[in-house]
Amino acid sequence: MNGPVFLSVVVPMYNEEEVIETTYRRLVSALDPIGETYELVFVNDGSRDSTDKIVRRLGAEDARVKLVDFSRNFGHQIAVTAGMDYSSGRVVVLIDADLQDPPELIPEMIARWREGYDVVYGRRIARRGETWFKKVTAATFYRLLRSMTSVNIPVDTGDFRLMDRKVCDALGSMREQSRFIRGMVSWAGFKQTSVEYVRDERFAGETKYPLRKMIRLSLDAITSFSTKPLKFAGILGFVMSAVGFVYLLVVVYQRLFTDTTQPGWSSMVVISLLFHGITLSLLGVLGEYIGRIYEEAKGRPLYLVADKLNLGETASDRTG
Ligand code: UDP
Ligand code: MG
Repeated sequence: MNGPVFLSVVVPMYNEEEVIETTYRRLVSALDPIGETYELVFVNDGSRDSTDKIVRRLGAEDARVKLVDFSRNFGHQIAVTAGMDYSSGRVVVLIDADLQDPPELIPEMIARWREGYDVVYGRRIARRGETWFKKVTAATFYRLLRSMTSVNIPVDTGDFRLMDRKVCDALGSMREQSRFIRGMVSWAGFKQTSVEYVRDERFAGETKYPLRKMIRLSLDAITSFSTKPLKFAGILGFVMSAVGFVYLLVVVYQRLFTDTTQPGWSSMVVISLLFHGITLSLLGVLGEYIGRIYEEAKGRPLYLVADKLNLGETASDRTG
């Protein structure tokens, strides 16, 4: 029952009771025609609804359904990581639970893998049914990230992708807390290609990525793959000091050699506010990095598993 399979599909879930059964059915009807063995590794990321009960029911009838049940909500990227840890397939596909990414694309991804590619990622040529705010912030973010990092992270791709076992193992060996899987896959290298698709509307329910989580993911992405914000802090500090020095010369000259009176107060207030503002924001930038260094230094496991279904005890007990 737990022997190696050809394909593992990893599905992270957070409060997805409205979609998960449909997702299971669409996956099965997309994967059965391929004629290869497969497993569906569902990861319950601390859902507070009946997501896990539905998966347990499916798993009781279908041994290909596996469940990793977290002790609480650890976040999407961590859930995907756990799914990869527990998967045994020759190839591994990451897909969202909400059917925004079509399972019908998986056979095409496998075809590209057979051509010799190790990573096949889905590239969204259009996003349907998402607010303009989400589209604009997403597009800006991908381009900002691209301009800041030396790792070549493809724009407009999500986590919907196929990976060869060796890529999956490489990622599994990277145990950092701030995880931005798309970036880590690019960093890992290997032969990569893309297939294009139109991103659908969420099948049911609402997004599990509120602005707060989006900001966190963006900051994780930037801090994990770029130190440019730190360098920017240095450059800005240098420029401001230069400007300040020139102004100092002007002030001294005026004081000694002219009668220009210096009313002074307003300009002092403005300068002081401006400089304090800049200093504090730059401390904030430092804080983003230091906070993450601290998280990593604690060396805690990435996640805790409360329960498992259809997964052998020995198969994968690498804790988080
Ligand atoms: N998800 C998760 N943990 C979280 C938030 C989201 O496992 O804390 C899952 C969610 O169930 C879905 C996927 O991550 O399968 C993507 O989330 P969502 O569709 O809400 O994000 P969006 O498509 O709106 O960016
Ligand atoms: Mg979605």
